[in-house]
Amino acid sequence: MYSHFDTVLITGGSRGIGAEMVKAFSAQGYRVAFIYLNSDEQAKELSKEHDAYAIKADVSDINQIKHAVQSAIDYLNGIDVLINNAGIAQSKLFCDISEFDFQNMLNVNLNGVFYTTQAVLPHMISKKRGRIINIASVWGVCGASMETHYSASKAAVIGFTKALAKEVAPCQITVNCIAPGVIDTDMNACYSESDIESLCEQIPLGRMGSVRDVAELALFLASKNAAYITGQVIGVDGGFAV
Ligand code: NAP
Repeated sequence: MYSHFDTVLITGGSRGIGAEMVKAFSAQGYRVAFIYLNSDEQAKELSKEHDAYAIKADVSDINQIKHAVQSAIDYLNGIDVLINNAGIAQSKLFCDISEFDFQNMLNVNLNGVFYTTQAVLPHMISKKRGRIINIASVWGVCGASMETHYSASKAAVIGFTKALAKEVAPCQITVNCIAPGVIDTDMNACYSESDIESLCEQIPLGRMGSVRDVAELALFLASKNAAYITGQVIGVDGGFAV
């Protein structure tokens, strides 16, 4: 067993980075529950192949999330590790971002982290232990042109992480952020081959990151070896933000 913790809830577990984390945590012996929204087929398959509990819920809806978290707690008999990973992205010139675009981005990427964390935290506090891992982005650290609303939502998640880390540290709960760079998932499917090539030229390690690169850091942050790490923003970006 990699950790003294053995249950994990992952939001956005049906695809991309979240799906890889479902596989990685399950392979390490964790009991895994994950939240997803639209990808029923992928969720069903993942659930079957990796013995994970799939819960369909929208992270931007507080009532759905309250029910989803309770269902995960009932199934797993507690949640030791929470990974707030569900997120959306959109590339638009600042002047073209509508009020809906902006609110929707914050509702999913920021409010979703708030709703899920607030539903899980009382259970961690009562046990005086737990790990919260928020998936932010390099664009929350640096800011991305044509992604003002995305960058704002991820920068907010970083502030959220640092503040909550201080507040819950006395309960031996750690809160950290992973800030991925350009990772090879559906989220980047909008880029052409030549866009990807020019992006890779700007990455010191010369390639996009893999979902595994991110999942490995999540496993480490959940492990007992990371017990003294809290309030940190750790990049998995091939040196992009250095
Ligand atoms: P992805 O492949 O597009 O997958 C997104 C996941 O989030 C899916 O499982 C999706 O579920 C779920 N999701 C989206 N909106 C949701 C909602 N309202 N309620 C519940 N689940 C929802 O994205 P990814 O690349 O794996 O990204 C995962 C996280 O990493 C995101 O927070 C993203 O911002 C961050 N990130 C990604 C990159 C990158 O380059 N890929 C870089 C930096 C940060 P359904 O498909 O079931 O709807």
